[in-house]
Amino acid sequence: MATAVVPKVYKNFINGEWVESRSGKSMENRNPANTDELIGMFPLATEDDVNAAIDAAREAYKTWRLVPAPKRAEILFRAAEILVRRKEDLARDMTREMGKVLAEARGDVQEAIDMTYYMAGEGRRLFGQTTPSELPNKFAMSVRQPIGVCTLITPWNFPMAIPSWKIMPALICGNTVVFKPASDTPLSAYNLVQVLTEAGVPRGVVNILTGSGSNVGAPLMKHPDVKVVSFTGSTEIGRVVSTACATDFKHCTLEMGGKNIIIVMDDANLDLAVDGAIWGGFGTTGQRCTAASRVTVHKKVYKEFLDRFTARAKSLKVGDGLDPSTAMGPCVNEGQLKTVMQYVHIGINEGARLAAGGHRLDSGNYKRGWFHQPTIFADCDPNMRVSQEEIFGPVVSVIPCDNLDNALDIANGVVYGLSASIYTRDVNKAFRALRDIYTGIVYVNAPTIGAETHLPFGGTKQTGNGHREAGTAAIDFYSEWKTIYIDYSDRLQRAQIDTGSFAHAE
Ligand code: NAP
Repeated sequence: MATAVVPKVYKNFINGEWVESRSGKSMENRNPANTDELIGMFPLATEDDVNAAIDAAREAYKTWRLVPAPKRAEILFRAAEILVRRKEDLARDMTREMGKVLAEARGDVQEAIDMTYYMAGEGRRLFGQTTPSELPNKFAMSVRQPIGVCTLITPWNFPMAIPSWKIMPALICGNTVVFKPASDTPLSAYNLVQVLTEAGVPRGVVNILTGSGSNVGAPLMKHPDVKVVSFTGSTEIGRVVSTACATDFKHCTLEMGGKNIIIVMDDANLDLAVDGAIWGGFGTTGQRCTAASRVTVHKKVYKEFLDRFTARAKSLKVGDGLDPSTAMGPCVNEGQLKTVMQYVHIGINEGARLAAGGHRLDSGNYKRGWFHQPTIFADCDPNMRVSQEEIFGPVVSVIPCDNLDNALDIANGVVYGLSASIYTRDVNKAFRALRDIYTGIVYVNAPTIGAETHLPFGGTKQTGNGHREAGTAAIDFYSEWKTIYIDYSDRLQRAQIDTGSFAHAE
């Protein structure tokens, strides 16, 4: 008789201890490439768990904020070292739980490593300013101070990188955190928190709760003791988060959807542009916020580009991301696959020409997973829904354009503004594009994906709310300026009023 495999049961981390949810309920985490594989059971946290985690974070803040930043940095440095040692195992866990191919999962863990080392380095900077006062015998400076308890809500597409973009800068600035990962990727979140505990993060400083957005995310961001909310996810939920934070004036950063574009000019290196469109469009199964889901191509090279692009897309091997020969993994879950299939219908109905793919893969080895073919719509109008709306799957719309002006209009003609790219060998065209495309990130002769951790990351319009993650921009978000004046003149000096003689200066 076959013995049933008992799935591993995971817990929440509150106040330095791994604890069960007060609900006693749990959710399954299954492999999207093979849904027979149950990776583990994760707690469905309740509002009571939320309150306990926030209490712990609030108490821990009292002491953590006073730990010298270089000492906080030593903990992060140790965490980075552990991540380096475990990189391969962490990447395999990630591929199993959300499907991206192993090379990309390694990249995701590497991004967390980079961010952790980077923020550890910031512990010996966190620079403020010293500047002359306008009055004599007066000293002026500004220092950064932490803010308090931060709620961090993350999506599933970068299950370790995105949490690290939030947790590491929050900690180095002296804040404490309660982290709610996406329900599709609790294992990578658990692994990251486990590493932080082993690195020596004190009790209560980092807490993690798994469970649904409405039962865990919503009370976490509304709690009066939470001062900062950082959210990455869809524009739809971002709007809910923004509204919830507004009434209490919580600091709030929103990183949301995208409809990113690659512009291919008639002088472009077409081999390079095709490589970029394949990687930008189908990397991570198109499930990157920076994915190139639109390509606009100059009419003079349109046919040649399209022929090469579709041939390459058709040759991509779809499969389990753990198989080294796989180029593209599954969609993350059934809902995401259905969204992709719906958009294929929408594209066909609105007259886009299906040039590659267009179908779900569900026979043979694909039977137990959420696989879809790499799909290209050709001859798209820029106003079609497939050219305007975020699909978040392996679907690329190719739009012909007449010239650079037309391409820039198409690029800017969407509600999102995350990433864009131009392939050209003409420096004048490149610089015009860099100036006139209204997105947070622009590439020249490289696809729309591939951000580095020491530069600001984020978008304009309905992609963001003006903040940036990563780089020193992250430090700006997770700290608050305090401006300090020290008057050593021993007399009343009035700024802007005592503007006359400085005879008293000594
Ligand atoms: P999502 O559905 O908006 O979910 C994001 C997170 O919010 C998840 O943890 C989710 O929990 C939680 N959530 C859901 N409803 C909530 C509520 N009412 N209150 C509080 N939290 C709630 O997005 P997703 O499907 O995970 O991720 C895909 C989206 O993220 C895409 O739109 C993509 O463009 C965007 N994204 C943007 C960036 C960027 O930097 N701009 C980066 C990556 C991804 P559950 O998982 O439990 O539902």
